Amino acid sequence: MVPWRVSNTSLPAQGYWGKITATLDWCEPNYQHSYYIAETWNSFSNLVYVAVALYAIWAHNSKVTKLHPRFLLVYLLLIAIGIGSFLFHASLLREYQLFDELPMLYITLAALHGSIFTKIFDNRMCLSEKILFLLGAAIMVVIGLVETLIQLYYPEHYDWFLLMFGGILLVCDLFQIYRSTISQSKYKKERRNLVVKNIVAFLLAFGVWLIDNNLCPYVEVLKLHSWWHFLTAYSVHHNIKFSEIVFLEANGIDFVVRSDKLLATIEPPAEKLKSKEQ
Ligand SMILES: [Zn+2]
Repeated sequence: MVPWRVSNTSLPAQGYWGKITATLDWCEPNYQHSYYIAETWNSFSNLVYVAVALYAIWAHNSKVTKLHPRFLLVYLLLIAIGIGSFLFHASLLREYQLFDELPMLYITLAALHGSIFTKIFDNRMCLSEKILFLLGAAIMVVIGLVETLIQLYYPEHYDWFLLMFGGILLVCDLFQIYRSTISQSKYKKERRNLVVKNIVAFLLAFGVWLIDNNLCPYVEVLKLHSWWHFLTAYSVHHNIKFSEIVFLEANGIDFVVRSDKLLATIEPPAEKLKSKEQ
């Protein structure tokens, strides 16, 4: 158990969901607004994950280029996080805590695989590339299984969860920084823009998460855990967009990045859009 965590035994409030079985309780008074929702702000702010993922899927599929299944999977995991985290904060039950935390671990693994392997798995890939791609996927699955077992059998070790989640995310981000700085890509500016949005938003999110957990009595009114949800949704979206542009470029697909929007989108070049409309 990490030292700054509020022990759930110190909060006896009970509502619809009964006894708190989660190993965590967050900086928000329980059942303050509803008999059915333990943490109102922390629950409803999770809808941002679902909204961002649905927007990203819609924005892509309404254009010429379809969202590749590997990125669709990541956005579906983001929806799972939103639903799982909503239920966790609403109930403070251990099973829903797992529904929140396990997809968080899986999404980092999917993002890491996407950061490393940038080509489409098809006949243009040579045998050694195919083997490496599948080996990489198999390693991610094994790590995911080990993480699942640790979460199931060692629930008291929240620090292990933080270490696994943070560690994989760090490796993934280092890959992206590397690709954004030394790349000879014609999309270098776009790469930098996306990686900066991803990392700055995540650092801000981590900052508010730390403040919320360490200084809860002084900052409770700011509902900082809700800001963690907003900022990480923004960060994940730009992390995925970065992997997407590397992927599209590696596979010779033309595109433009619309970074002027709140949530960056990837669109076909103007001439392709025009020919679609005609
Ligand atoms: Zn949360």
